[in-house]
Amino acid sequence: MKRKNLIIIFITTIIVAFTLAIIQYTQSYKNSYVKLHKKVLFNEAKSLYSNMINVRTWSSSHGGVYVKANGKLKPNPYLEDNVEYTKNNEQLIRVNPAWMTRQISEISNKKQDYYFKITSLNPLNPHNLPDTFERKALIKLKTHPEKKFFTEFEDNKYNFLGELRVEKTCLQCHSYQNLKVGDIIGGLRVSLPINSYKKSVDLINTNTFHITLIVIFTSLCFIGLIIFTINSIFKKNKDIKILNRTLEKKVEKRTKELQVLNNQLKTTAITDYLTNIPNRRFFFEMGNKSFSLAKRENKSISIICLDIDYFKRINDNYGHHAGDKILIQIANTLKTHTRDSDIVARTGGEEFSIIVNNTDIDGALKLAEKIRVEIQDLSTLYKQVVIKVTVSIGVTQIKQDDTFQKILNRADSLLYKAKDKGRNTIVKA
Ligand code: GH3
Ligand code: MG
Ligand code: MG
Repeated sequence: MKRKNLIIIFITTIIVAFTLAIIQYTQSYKNSYVKLHKKVLFNEAKSLYSNMINVRTWSSSHGGVYVKANGKLKPNPYLEDNVEYTKNNEQLIRVNPAWMTRQISEISNKKQDYYFKITSLNPLNPHNLPDTFERKALIKLKTHPEKKFFTEFEDNKYNFLGELRVEKTCLQCHSYQNLKVGDIIGGLRVSLPINSYKKSVDLINTNTFHITLIVIFTSLCFIGLIIFTINSIFKKNKDIKILNRTLEKKVEKRTKELQVLNNQLKTTAITDYLTNIPNRRFFFEMGNKSFSLAKRENKSISIICLDIDYFKRINDNYGHHAGDKILIQIANTLKTHTRDSDIVARTGGEEFSIIVNNTDIDGALKLAEKIRVEIQDLSTLYKQVVIKVTVSIGVTQIKQDDTFQKILNRADSLLYKAKDKGRNTIVKA
């Protein structure tokens, strides 16, 4: 995978992990908040329950309380021996703990702050029969004796049911039920309105949702920004690389062109423009080298110098073009009859010189004679006229204490001797 993609994946993973951690934290904060509010509801319900239990215990410890009968309060038909009379013959009704609880709950239920109810799976008073929640709660408490409370949310209220255990005084009325002190006789239900709880939970839900949205949006923006930045950096790097490569290629191309030009220049500098064979300059460079090498290795080396006889006349008679044509033909003839290791050059206007490597005077003489005859036999056709030329040649080989210049001068003077001898001839030394 590309380095760029790896970096993007790495940074994106970190941001996603960070985002998930924040969302997780927000969620757990929300859960703790909701839990806390539930705990507040529970504590409130439990306080009310405990309060009622305390009142009931007090009432129970006195075997219930006697209150005056009036139009509204009549003796409880479900209780026995619950009526007394005062000296003034006023009727007193005994209100047992269960009835008292019921009466108090009716007061609170009217106010609608909270709702109380005493209930039992098997009540004396049919008014105390359990509703769906209460039945569920009572069964739960009965089957799970370690539990003392049961709670459940309903649409607009929080339902709480706490156990009611049999106390000694309960047995007066409930003896027929075969109950023992400590047995669960029923439960006390408390219901609380949950408007403010709901508002709080809604608020925290909305806030958590908004925070989650903001965190996700910020993370996405951040990821987008990072991807954009990384892409830009890599694109810039790529552009720079491409630019460099283009530049390198341009430089390479220019260098090659320069090399070609240089080579051309070198070749031009050492090549005779007319005959296309090495010029005098190259002849001297190579002559010096070959001469030193031959001397060092104690090998023979010979020089042949030749000059076209009466060449001026050719120019005069047939024109320069004809002369040029002859010069080219002679250069080609020399190239044809020499070895690759020999160096043939045009060393003057109508003068040519040959360095014959590893060859003594006899070998050089043979070559010079062959050249002389070849040129003598050469016919140059120019404007339907056959032109013929001859050459005079000086031949010499390396001697003790020679320098290249010395051997060259010797060959040159031998050439002039050949001219003096009547031309088209060879003089050696
Ligand atoms: P000799 O036998 O004594 O050598 O007589 P020559 O006429 O050959 O010698 P001379 O030195 O009098 O003349 C040489 C001539 O070679 C003169 C010149 O016009 C001619 N020449 C030199 N270079 C060129 C060339 O590049 N092209 C042509 N066409 N002629 C050239
Ligand atoms: Mg000459
Ligand atoms: Mg000449």
